[in-house]
Order: sequence, then structure tokens, then C-alpha cells
Amino acid sequence: MNSEPIESLARLKEAFQKLPGIGPRSAERLAFHVLREKRDYAASLAQALLDVKDKIIHCGVCYNLTESDPCPICANPHRDRNEIWIVEQPKDVIVLESTGLVRGTYHVLMGHIAPLEGIEPEDLTIDALIERIRRGEVREVVMALNPTLDGDGTALHIRSLLSDYDVTVTRPARGLAVGSQIEYASLSMLESAIRGRTPL
Ligand SMILES: [Zn+2]
Repeated sequence: MNSEPIESLARLKEAFQKLPGIGPRSAERLAFHVLREKRDYAASLAQALLDVKDKIIHCGVCYNLTESDPCPICANPHRDRNEIWIVEQPKDVIVLESTGLVRGTYHVLMGHIAPLEGIEPEDLTIDALIERIRRGEVREVVMALNPTLDGDGTALHIRSLLSDYDVTVTRPARGLAVGSQIEYASLSMLESAIRGRTPL
């Protein structure tokens, strides 16, 4: 329950409190912060919130988040189209890009297969991936999925679908602890995992 008698302030606090990791006290601090700042600040905050909803789309090729279609990575003529890095989420692309070591392009699955949670292969972007490979320019598929039970299961499922095609399927070396997530890996761990790819 919100005890704030000023309605607009109460609504702002409520909105902040819905953000992950923000409790009532932090929400109150943030709301008062906005109140103290100039109107321009509130306007640019509001505009930034709307822009991420209005301007960001999924790339029609790799499904990464982007403001242009195809995304800057897919549109970059210097990226190696022989090599596709398969990841679960757009934030994994950001992490791998931060290493500067990936020369290829990506394919974002938008999750992993998890039958217990009702997530089936057709809920992911696997069909679009197969279509990219069917077109024939891909030589290596790197399974950069999270080293979890579901991530591994998804990688094996995709590998079996790819057995009909002339592509090498690899995965980053297991520098990452089992059950860990790519987004939390350290840079040096990622670098050695990316350089030391092994066949899947
Ligand atoms: Zn793309």
C-alpha cells in the first residue's frame, strides 16, 4: 500500500517499484530525485522510456534488437557470413561483442527449449536459423548458449537439425562453469572460451 498523499508522486513511486531490484525505499528516493530535478530531465527520461518501446525492433535476419533492419552487425560487410554464433538472448550479443573477438554474425534464439516450462522449439527462431543455413553461405555454427541443462539440450536439438547440412558445429571452450550464464562471465573467461572452440 502506498501512503503518499500526493497522487502523481505516488504513481511515480509505484512505477519505479515495479522495476527489478527496486524496493519501496529506493522507489521513493528515485521519485523525489525526479521531483527535485529540472523539467527537462523528466522529459528526457520519459522520452527515453518511450523510445525503447517505439524504436527498437528485432532484426529480420538475426533477431537481435536494433533500430534498423537489418541490424548494424548483419549490415556490416566486414562481418564473416560463414560463421553464425547462436545465442539465447539479445543481451548475450552485447556481451560477446564486448570481447571484439567475434568476426561472424549472430542468431538470437529468443530463449531456449524448456519442455517443463512449455517452451518448444517452434517458440524459438530455429526455423529462421535453418533457413539462413539452407541458403548455403554458412560454414561454422558456434553454439554460444548458456552452459545449463536447457542450453545444452537446445544446442543438441539444433545440432541434430543441422546434420543434413554441410556445416561444422562448434561451441566455445568450457571456460564457463556449468550452470552459469554468458551474461555474467568475465571478459577473460569469455576470451579464452571464444578462442578455444571445440566441436559439439
Ligand atoms: Zn541482424
